[in-house]
Amino acid sequence: MKYDAIIIGSGLGGLEVALMLAKDGKRVLVLEKQRQAGGCMQSFRRGTTHLDTGLHYVGGLGERESLRIAFESLGLMQLPWQRMDEDCFEEIIFPSGKFCWCQGIDAFIHKMKCHFPHEEDGLEQYRRLLLSDDEEFMQKTNAWDYLHSIFTDELLIQVLSAPATCKMELRKESLPLFTFVHGIAPFIESSWRLKGDGNLIVNRLVSQIVDNGGEVLTGKEVTELIEEDGRVTRAVCADSSEYEASVFVSDTHPVQTIHLLRQSRLMKNIFRRRMEAQDNTAGIFTLQLKLKPRSLKYFNHNKLVFAHDNCWDMAVGESHSVEGIMISCRIPSSGEYTDNIDILTPMTWDAVMPWQESKIGHRPKAYKQMKQEVAQACIRLASTAIPNLEEIIQKEWSSTPLTYRDYNGTPCGSAFGFRKDYASPLTTIVSPRTPVPNLYMTGQSLMLHGLQGVTMTAGFTIRAIQD
Ligand SMILES: Cc1cc2nc3c(=O)[nH]c(=O)nc-3n(C[C@H](O)[C@H](O)[C@H](O)COP(=O)(O)OP(=O)(O)OC[C@H]3O[C@@H](n4cnc5c(N)ncnc54)[C@H](O)[C@@H]3O)c2cc1C
Repeated sequence: MKYDAIIIGSGLGGLEVALMLAKDGKRVLVLEKQRQAGGCMQSFRRGTTHLDTGLHYVGGLGERESLRIAFESLGLMQLPWQRMDEDCFEEIIFPSGKFCWCQGIDAFIHKMKCHFPHEEDGLEQYRRLLLSDDEEFMQKTNAWDYLHSIFTDELLIQVLSAPATCKMELRKESLPLFTFVHGIAPFIESSWRLKGDGNLIVNRLVSQIVDNGGEVLTGKEVTELIEEDGRVTRAVCADSSEYEASVFVSDTHPVQTIHLLRQSRLMKNIFRRRMEAQDNTAGIFTLQLKLKPRSLKYFNHNKLVFAHDNCWDMAVGESHSVEGIMISCRIPSSGEYTDNIDILTPMTWDAVMPWQESKIGHRPKAYKQMKQEVAQACIRLASTAIPNLEEIIQKEWSSTPLTYRDYNGTPCGSAFGFRKDYASPLTTIVSPRTPVPNLYMTGQSLMLHGLQGVTMTAGFTIRAIQD
């Protein structure tokens, strides 16, 4: 069987590209190495508890907003989206005070002016930035330096950055303004949770691919792409099955993509070296807590809690100290009490490096102890916002960058793929094209991450294929 297009990896980017091609009449096949489709979007069960991997909330789904049009055409607006609290969807707790982010750019700027009246001029400039489409300027500008060029109050800069803690890598030296603005502006427009789990998105995309004549196969790890006469012709899987197509799109991390072309004559060394030399963002430590029945009322916002008035460069490292967390609450299937909450904090590879040789199901005791230590620190910090938290926990599970490396195959368990660096334009946007003419890439490493970023990137890949 020869397909028009084979998509390697069923993360959000891979499924979106597959659906767009299938709707365009192409016969598509998605090959996913895990038993379940969805990559970072997949959800899983522990007993009766439903848990999510990389979906907590999404921005820009309001009328005429940035993500809405794309989600409408992908059939995702029919899902049960629930708008978060408009007057406070992000509750930020710093030692020096509590702040709320509200939805709507004008309302947001107004609220910030009430907290920081002495920064009125800077906040007007910030409003223009949030509405700006000067992408070239934003790509070349350092986010940290820019914020310091328009504001003098350090606390305001921290308040404007806090909700980005688990949405991007808040790294002073490298973060481009482009990544910063695209990672937060859609959420200020409007913010939404899904009533249900990430699999609702995955299943909806998969069923539409199938309805449009495509196929999605799981348990199919692509181990090699075979090149003949200057093109990729076949994908070979770990179970020795082979699939032929005219076009190939990889949703795996770009370094994994080039490793699939071991024998390539076309994959130029300069491209290979460029991809391999690029750094990756830090990972995320996620603590998932099942709570005792009727012990915590659902809250329709995120809580961000910090040990100091600082949210930049504070990922958990070798010392395992936790300095900031995001708490996300799951919408109850019925009633007013939630069943579980997730606590997230950024974590570097250094924190788990001693156990990098270990595999899922065979982690050593010291690794489990480290996870327990970090979990306890997260719970202590979360207790600032939910005072009786420790007493209401029924069960807990946690994951680290090692988990992400072993499930999704991302180098160093990176949460958002390639690190974008304002000083190095080649890293800010990576082309979906490769030196092999019928091999394309998609996914979060290319341009932007998150549901919105990956969806924009999928459109970017489709345009390259259709050119
Ligand atoms: C903890 C966490 C929380 C997050 N929360 C949010 C949030 O609240 N809102 C938001 O907008 N974004 C969030 N994100 C980001 C968002 O989930 C990701 O940006 C997005 O899902 C990435 O999609 P992708 O298609 O680029 O890649 P991935 O999801 O990484 O998919 C890649 C797929 O390729 C497969 N694969 C790899 N190698 C092979 C191979 N050789 N053969 C076949 N298949 C292969 C993998 O198994 C995987 O399924 C979060 C991310 C994390 C880590």
